[in-house]
Amino acid sequence: MTNDDHRRAAMVERDIAGRGITDARVLAAMRAVPREHFVPANLRQRAFDDRPLPIGNAQTISQPYIVALMAQALQLQGDEHVLEIGTGSGYGAAVLARLCRHVDTVERISDLADRARQQLADLGVTNVDVHGGDGTLGWPAAAPFDAIVVTAGGPSVPPALQAQLAPGGRLVMPVGAQHGGQDLLRLTRSGGDDFRTESLCGVAFVPLLGAQGWPEA
Ligand code: SAH
Repeated sequence: MTNDDHRRAAMVERDIAGRGITDARVLAAMRAVPREHFVPANLRQRAFDDRPLPIGNAQTISQPYIVALMAQALQLQGDEHVLEIGTGSGYGAAVLARLCRHVDTVERISDLADRARQQLADLGVTNVDVHGGDGTLGWPAAAPFDAIVVTAGGPSVPPALQAQLAPGGRLVMPVGAQHGGQDLLRLTRSGGDDFRTESLCGVAFVPLLGAQGWPEA
């Protein structure tokens, strides 16, 4: 193991397993994905802290604990088709890629989408497609999805995303105020148009901007 691998393993032990994440596949993915490659070079030494970090374009790479919590909440077994809204650095997509069959991820800032696509290619990740666009509308061309995760906070769950969730599927998303706190919700589609909603915890994400999110300035 490299020194970075050791530091990452310590972070997973202390901040992720240590704070109650129990899904062994999620813990293994968090140990394996080199978060230090998804942050700007000058912040690399801070990639092993359980904190969000700036990635440019006024956006952040999420805190590792929250990435793990959301991944666990999706209840992935390995064969799912997953949609992520808010690619950002591509880190969350790289974690999900180890937990399912295929990930489609949508990012509204094309500069970030381009960088994430390049980073994932450099790391040899082949089961993620990065798309540019407004993710509040989902990605209809590849629907339905067994699981959907939104990594930005919206005023409500976009109907387009609910429509693209397969029967039995899980959708995890922060819903609440634009600046400040949101509730992390999990919707489970029981079949037809029935959705069960659970509130998992309080979180603070950057705003989800778009047609079925907050209005763009
Ligand atoms: N999962 C990311 C965290 C990204 S932060 C990571 O691991 O690094 C949230 C991202 O959501 C930002 O990059 C922001 O540009 C993006 N975003 C906000 N609204 C969006 C929308 N409507 N469609 C797609 N992406 C959106």
